[in-house]
Amino acid sequence: MNLQDLESGDKARIIKVGGRGELRQHFLDMGVIPGVVVTKIKLAPMGDPMEIEIHGYELTLRLEDAAKIELEPISEETNSESRMNENQHTAHNSEKKNHPLHPGLGEEGKFHEKKSETPLPDDTILKFALVGNQNSGKTTLFNQLTGSNQHVGNFPGVTVDQKSGKIRENKNTLVTDLPGIYSMSPYSSEELISRDFVLNEKPHGIINIVDATNIERNLYLTMQLLELDIPLVIALNMMDEVIGNGGSVDVNKMEHILGVPVIPISASKNQGVDELVKHALHVAHYQEKPLRQDFCDKNEKGGAVHRALHAVIHLIQDHADRSNIPVRFAASKLLEDDKRIMHKLDLDTNEKETLEHIALQMEKERKLDRSAAIADMRFSFIQKVRSSCVKKPLVSKERLRSQKLDRILTGKFTALPVFAAVMALVFFLTFNVIGAFLQQLLETGITKLTSAVDFWLTSAGTNEVLHGLIVNGIFSGVGSVLSFLPVIVTLFFFLSILEDSGYIARVAFFMDTLLRKIGLSGRSIVPLLIGFGCTVPAIMSTRILPSERDRKMTILLTPFMSCTAKLPIYAFFVNAFFPRNGALIMTGLYFLGIATGILVALLYRKTLFKGEPVPFVMELPNYRLPCARNVAQLLWEKAKDFLERAFTVIFMATIVIWFLQSFDLRLNLVEDSSMSILAKIAGLIAPIFRPIGLGDWRICTSLISGVMAKESVVSTFGILFSEGISLALSKATAASLLVFSLLYTPCIASIASVKRELGLKWAAGLVIWQCAVAWIFSFAVWLLGNL
Ligand code: GDP
Ligand code: MG
Repeated sequence: MNLQDLESGDKARIIKVGGRGELRQHFLDMGVIPGVVVTKIKLAPMGDPMEIEIHGYELTLRLEDAAKIELEPISEETNSESRMNENQHTAHNSEKKNHPLHPGLGEEGKFHEKKSETPLPDDTILKFALVGNQNSGKTTLFNQLTGSNQHVGNFPGVTVDQKSGKIRENKNTLVTDLPGIYSMSPYSSEELISRDFVLNEKPHGIINIVDATNIERNLYLTMQLLELDIPLVIALNMMDEVIGNGGSVDVNKMEHILGVPVIPISASKNQGVDELVKHALHVAHYQEKPLRQDFCDKNEKGGAVHRALHAVIHLIQDHADRSNIPVRFAASKLLEDDKRIMHKLDLDTNEKETLEHIALQMEKERKLDRSAAIADMRFSFIQKVRSSCVKKPLVSKERLRSQKLDRILTGKFTALPVFAAVMALVFFLTFNVIGAFLQQLLETGITKLTSAVDFWLTSAGTNEVLHGLIVNGIFSGVGSVLSFLPVIVTLFFFLSILEDSGYIARVAFFMDTLLRKIGLSGRSIVPLLIGFGCTVPAIMSTRILPSERDRKMTILLTPFMSCTAKLPIYAFFVNAFFPRNGALIMTGLYFLGIATGILVALLYRKTLFKGEPVPFVMELPNYRLPCARNVAQLLWEKAKDFLERAFTVIFMATIVIWFLQSFDLRLNLVEDSSMSILAKIAGLIAPIFRPIGLGDWRICTSLISGVMAKESVVSTFGILFSEGISLALSKATAASLLVFSLLYTPCIASIASVKRELGLKWAAGLVIWQCAVAWIFSFAVWLLGNL
């Protein structure tokens, strides 16, 4: 029997995990190993992928991967055995009840018994790496530690770039928030970032954040971090949930077993964070290494893994020292068949052969292949830690709530309609209710201010040119853009709530089948949805994708998702030309963007990106109420971003354009702007735009200025068409222009991020390609409009 055949709701035990290479390693690292009991929860609404529960957390995987996992029924005997274990462990825990919750700085800030005190010099800048699983609360903790604004999300992998900051009130410190990882075996490119950071930057200390509601999986990473021989403290996060559900963790005991300080905290409630900082500073300052790095047990399951690991350690000791890789870590990675570490160690042929022999012997004795044997060793150690220190709550409120919500949100018949309704509601609230209301307010304010300034300048008898620059240039240019701030912030607000709550992970789960049809995996939905906010973070978030092929393809598709900066354009033209069908046309444009994206993806799939999308293994976190502080910080960041842009790029563009359209080549003020410098320049490219109805030099100019920032299209129109656009242009022109703005090249900031991710060639190619696509579609619209 294999996992694919398991009925929903049934349990079975894994006996074999098939597949090869990094993907298989990823399965093992996620806890899918022989001997473990797995429960199938359900299939996604479109029949693929499936959701399973393992070690108390939920994972998704595709049916074809599930088919590689062999199962056996759970016998009565093993059942009662595990029940007995459960009983034992509850008894065990009640005995321990009197333990104080944790030691604090009871040992006067000293955790280890030191033989000698050799602190680092006082002026050393202590560098910390914040490492942990995805959704363990790293970013929330980082915000608490540094007080800075970071993007926090509840989708696996929202942190895609490393961010650093100083710990509050501690001058000589620097913490870096790293992307979430499940293991030190690199799987996606962001996992590689985290691993390389820890291995190469050699931080003075590691703050390992562990989700206490999910200890089994989180400690898997901890064990590999301990092998690195770098001072480490464990921040046991989400303790509020554990305690709220009646669970507890014997922190003292855990410290003794793991040999590092363990500090229970709640990052979102800012509990225990000060204490964490004290411990972290202490271990880093005194360079207190983890006391325990050896987790294999000589007596366990014949001790084969233990013997193999120690043999490898002896074998490679000198190579590890030379290449500056902690030897314990190197040994376990070699046994896991990690090619990158193998390469770095530079073993000679004899040593490689010996290594292979050791590994083969281990496989033979253990009757498991090497990767599975190592993963199994780690999980059995974790079992021991868990059964002696952790009392799991019988029911977790958050878990039950998530399951209830999922019955509807990922239910067979409800998932897609609910998703459509949620998106519709988000856009409706953004454009018609909240955002629109705030926008009205702001617009009224700006108009009042403009006329006040106009009046004041006139009565003061200001020079005509200056007057024109201020009122017609700056105020109408920047002002027209500024009024879109509320809509943009509101849309980001909703997107971040969806992300933070854990819903987007579910969307990835049930959209996987559809996205596969266009050659992508469910994970790509995240960058694509973020793309409706802004293309730049969307492109950055593609680093969560584990394959280069998927990543490239997703990057090239995100610009087709209409970003918020294009909204001002739509609103401006819709108000002027199609006021009665406004909502319909706006929605239509969004859908046209999506449809074009799909067509282009199908084309890519047949040409540039042949092959299959990567497998889809992902954790489904519990739904969590987004933390108000995080959301507020995000909004503030976005608003700041937008304002900065409005007052730098757009402000400059406004002035330049105003200048170019007010003067001729001999720098005389022109009567009519068609004699201006701008008209001359734009006239050169006008022929390209003439066939699609956009041959007017003023339109060409606006489109060019839109490359700087999309909002500039509107501000430029504001300046160049001072008489109002509804008289100057026809409806067909407006339609063609809308479509062209939707599809043509993304703004300079997005082009720069494409270049950073994929290189200059791809970025240039994307610009030309999108302009071509836009031209073709606009041409069609123009023809239709003139029928
Ligand atoms: P990251 O992926 O590791 O950066 O995790 P985030 O910082 O994005 O947090 C994931 C989710 O957990 C967010 O919805 C947070 O609001 C929530 N969260 C973080 N810390 C805590 C905590 O201590 N208690 C509870 N109940 N939720 C938390
Ligand atoms: Mg994060």
